[in-house]
Amino acid sequence: MLASALHLLGHVLISTTFAFTMITNEEFSLSFRSRLNAVSVSSHVLEKATIKVRCQCGNNAFAVEVERSSPVVRCHCVRCRKFHTSAFASYLKVSRDAIPCDSTSAPVQKYLDSCNEIGPVERLSCGWCNSVLASVPAIETGGPLGGGALLALGCVEDASIPPGLAKEWAHKFEEWKKEESAKWWEAAPSGRPIRGCRAERTLRGGCACGACTFEAWSGSEFQTQHCYCNLCRRLSGSVAQTWIPVYKDGFRWTKEDKLRVVRTTKHGQRHMCTGCGGVMTIVYDDQPYTVWPCAGAIEDDSMPKAEDMSRSLCRAIHICCSMMQPWYELPEDGLPRLKYAG
Ligand SMILES: [Zn+2]
Ligand SMILES: [Zn+2]
Ligand SMILES: [Zn+2]
Ligand SMILES: [Zn+2]
Repeated sequence: MLASALHLLGHVLISTTFAFTMITNEEFSLSFRSRLNAVSVSSHVLEKATIKVRCQCGNNAFAVEVERSSPVVRCHCVRCRKFHTSAFASYLKVSRDAIPCDSTSAPVQKYLDSCNEIGPVERLSCGWCNSVLASVPAIETGGPLGGGALLALGCVEDASIPPGLAKEWAHKFEEWKKEESAKWWEAAPSGRPIRGCRAERTLRGGCACGACTFEAWSGSEFQTQHCYCNLCRRLSGSVAQTWIPVYKDGFRWTKEDKLRVVRTTKHGQRHMCTGCGGVMTIVYDDQPYTVWPCAGAIEDDSMPKAEDMSRSLCRAIHICCSMMQPWYELPEDGLPRLKYAG
């Protein structure tokens, strides 16, 4: 099973262009806004749509009927963040039957977890590529979603979302457990980094099920790169994954019961857990001295405190913005926005 999965993933190489194309905040904002503002008036009144869901390997693919009134949710709870290894989970509330978890051509991995807003949930991801598909409440009838389920937006095909709907999703969404939100997500460097031992720290992280844990020495060049590429969005099921480069010398696995390393692009591999599907690092072929742990996998209490976050950061950037999903708008945080990787 593992061998066939790895074989398949070997054919799912992502052709990412690592051109260092920099665009200014203004240029990006303008192109992004003009894309959304080009929406015709008639598409605003669309009441129903069929959106398409597709995992990274393409074997879990299905269509979902959605209504304009179907609510979009961002859950900031610690459990959703850890499972999605993202700053927050991005969901669309749909009916339970809309998620055909037993009728797709690839296996669906199920992991029993909990969301701090709605309680026990079954997390569904592609059994071959680990793309996150949905969270379904463990209580089948009634329950907090009234028999509904949460479709993960990261695997929804951009072109299948009517532009008017994408625009609504960007501005109209519920937020759950805002008080548990990741303090590193909207942090920008203050320009006066904390030097010495206060900024340097041991980051502790791991997957949602706890079968894999790691420690990473941050070094003094603490930075975050928020990536919106097709792979990061599908493997997280959300809007982005955030990466923190650290020296390989200072990185070690403290528990690796279900750890596997999977080649995910022509340039690199990711460490994932076979128990819960969580993605924990990227290792690039041409960077023998660097590991990129995922911020979403790192324990909050090993990160700088909220009040120290800006001064601890040397750099924070948004990368692969050209692949950003149409229902998300970047905050006006003043950070550089790169079309591709940086
Ligand atoms: Zn897949
Ligand atoms: Zn949650
Ligand atoms: Zn795990
Ligand atoms: Zn990425």
